[in-house]
Amino acid sequence: MISHNACLGHDTGPDHPECARRLSAINDRFVMTGLADVLRHYDAPEVTRDQLLRVHTRSHIEHIESTLPAEGYVRLDPDTIMSSGSLAAARRAAGAVVKAVDLVMAGDVESAFCCVRPPGHHAESQRAMGFCLFSNIAVGVAHALREHDLQRVAVVDFDVHQGNGTEEIFRDEERVLFCSTFEHPFYPFTPLLGNAPNRVNVPLDARAGSTEFRAAISEHWMPALRQFEPEMIFVSAGFDAHRDDDMSHVSLTDADYRWVSEQIVEAASLSAGNRIISALEGGYELHSLARCVEMHVRVLMGLH
Ligand SMILES: [Zn+2]
Repeated sequence: MISHNACLGHDTGPDHPECARRLSAINDRFVMTGLADVLRHYDAPEVTRDQLLRVHTRSHIEHIESTLPAEGYVRLDPDTIMSSGSLAAARRAAGAVVKAVDLVMAGDVESAFCCVRPPGHHAESQRAMGFCLFSNIAVGVAHALREHDLQRVAVVDFDVHQGNGTEEIFRDEERVLFCSTFEHPFYPFTPLLGNAPNRVNVPLDARAGSTEFRAAISEHWMPALRQFEPEMIFVSAGFDAHRDDDMSHVSLTDADYRWVSEQIVEAASLSAGNRIISALEGGYELHSLARCVEMHVRVLMGLH
């Protein structure tokens, strides 16, 4: 478990769904259930500029830095808000995934969960978007490719919103397989790219539930993962397709999140030496978020 108190200092203003209480709810749940006692906890370091520059343009990074308000709020787009603590939080959120890669590659842990905010999967190489400032997962993937010389890495994204940022950044990167399920048509409303050898997009109808979600994973993600044989699997872990979460229309259950986590563990056991790095994306109904993150982490740890 990799996190940092700075992630609580990203203040998005009153009534914003992507709020610090999300992390508090997860932490409280981990303590209450005893999971906190069996996890190894690590502080997330700040991401370095060089690590960010592997996936973001200099102008994007400088825009975030120069727009940071000393007080009050700045709106980068209708949904994406920065306060004085936002840059520190974003640096720790991306740094967490880098740290996770180093820990897993060193063999210190088999898998890691980055309990961080702001989320990352909508941030593109040149712009912040949809609550996301930096692409946390992409920064970690680029680190794994560059510093650890991995040749095949998969990113699986079960957030209810399509991971347009991850997709854009690795669109032409053959070493990265991107698998995503998402409600469609829906935010981010970016053009839906067709499938390719390194891309498996599985749109879900707004009325979709467990059956459609599980079919998407079984029939599309799993064959692609078996064929690609990733050496490491990254997870954009968003829990906003839960039926209790009114951010979307898709209605998954706690059991679906357990099931998809088990599928990812299965895929990682085949080619990736069980190496899984998961980072929090969405999930805004605090009770279902906390329950499903706990379950997800238990499955990654082999605790059931
Ligand atoms: Zn989402």
